[in-house]
Amino acid sequence: MSMDEIQVQVEPEAEDSPTKVLICVNQSSIKGYPYPSLSCVDAFEWTLKKLVKRSSKHLFKLCFLHVEVPDEDGFDDTDSLYASPDDFKDLKHREKIRGLHLLEIFIRRCHEIGVPCEGWIRKGDPKEAICREVKKIHPDILIVGSRGLGPVQRIFVGTVSEYISKHADCPVLVIKRKVEDTPEDPVDD
Ligand code: AMP
Repeated sequence: MSMDEIQVQVEPEAEDSPTKVLICVNQSSIKGYPYPSLSCVDAFEWTLKKLVKRSSKHLFKLCFLHVEVPDEDGFDDTDSLYASPDDFKDLKHREKIRGLHLLEIFIRRCHEIGVPCEGWIRKGDPKEAICREVKKIHPDILIVGSRGLGPVQRIFVGTVSEYISKHADCPVLVIKRKVEDTPEDPVDD
């Protein structure tokens, strides 16, 4: 078969439709509320610096996804806790507010520099929720940070980026946390 006979079917796409970039963001385990994790900040900064440059910002749409993990027991620093039914209503509200404050940090930054963006929250296991979201919104690219954990930590702690790069139904870009940003315990973020 000659080159002339090969016909590649390409889905027609509006020429001016922006490249949809889905960025996964989570909260910092060391800096506390409402700070984003070091790894997702590094991924975001890389995206702004190397992909969505000032001159081409209108060609992109940044979509921020935060997955809220349901708290298994709700016990952090105490070994006993009294909670009234009203506290539980309040808890749901508070979790949502925390997620919104996290998203606000990224959305505000995008507004400052004029990059089109939106953000939303899902609930569940981050790995699975992110892959489900990809099936729903079909991003052109998914960007995720990474703590760069070693093989043993990966088994015991688990890694979101590794799972996503294997299972998400779209191109995935994993941005490793900068060496200088690595905390004493690399599991922290
Ligand atoms: P890893 O170090 O492989 O677990 O990947 C960390 C990265 O996974 C973070 O920088 C985020 O991009 C993403 N991630 C982790 N947890 C969440 C979450 N709850 N919601 C959204 N993205 C998350």
